[in-house]
Amino acid sequence: DQADTENAADWIDDNGSETLIDTQITYDSQPSIKRNLTKKEIATTLIILKVRHKLTTRAVSDICRLLRLFHVPNAPKSFAAVKRLMEREASDNMKPDILHICRQCNNVYKDVCDDATCQQNNRELQSSIFLKFPIKDQIQSILATERNFVLHSQSSVWPNDRIAEIQHADWYRSIAENEDKSNFITLMLNVDGIAMSGSSDNSLWIFTFIMNEINRSDRYKLQNCIFGGVWPGPQKPSREQMFAMVKSMTDELQSLENENVYFIRALGDRFVKLKVFLIGATCDKPAQALVQNTPEPIAKFGCGRCEIPGTSDL
Ligand SMILES: [Zn+2]
Ligand SMILES: [Zn+2]
Repeated sequence: DQADTENAADWIDDNGSETLIDTQITYDSQPSIKRNLTKKEIATTLIILKVRHKLTTRAVSDICRLLRLFHVPNAPKSFAAVKRLMEREASDNMKPDILHICRQCNNVYKDVCDDATCQQNNRELQSSIFLKFPIKDQIQSILATERNFVLHSQSSVWPNDRIAEIQHADWYRSIAENEDKSNFITLMLNVDGIAMSGSSDNSLWIFTFIMNEINRSDRYKLQNCIFGGVWPGPQKPSREQMFAMVKSMTDELQSLENENVYFIRALGDRFVKLKVFLIGATCDKPAQALVQNTPEPIAKFGCGRCEIPGTSDL
């Protein structure tokens, strides 16, 4: 059973607003459902209830017991059962490809290196792996739920002399000028290594994308993050391995630059043709050096923008 980690005081409503809410609810306006709810529907309802009212896991388990006491068909046993079901559903929807990077030639493959010129017949040489997530499916599921989304063509005209949003910057404007006949969205990539177990020798690397057309208040929320890939480590990827990972993602991104149809909630639950452009990346200096294959930031010519050799003060 799950430990009860939440603070009990969090979910007690001390404003006395229950009575207020009671009078606001008009029960007869809710359509009644004339069939049994599925397991998934009950689990989803319980999760929404838990989040909305900050219920403890034990409270949800008690509701489950209550449902079972009333002989509600498909009622889960406990919160643990709800959680298991939701986790299974979530992972079914976002199955990553487990890809290998050949130690010999850095080719990306699923089973065996299929590069015709590669001599990799040494089975002892273990390939490194990374997880690649489907980008298009994630864009679709975000657009199907997010309300706070505006296409560039619908946003108001902005005076030329100020920049308050990425949409006002040159690069974005140049895409907008090119694509004045079609709808598009833009992505930003973030690549960063996360040190594991306190040692900088062991790190996990994560590729995430965000969508600039989502309002900034919601843009960086976890549910609106697109996972491109994960390098599970434990070592930092080499430049060749980083190239192989970036390449596998840019292949998909290039195909997304063509028009595809997406279902968009914020545009009135309509199907809309969209092009998707990656327009930039945010990285710290070590990650930038890896992704762009530039010298290390502490090396000579270590700047990604200019050709000044730099000085060393020891
Ligand atoms: Zn190979
Ligand atoms: Zn510079």
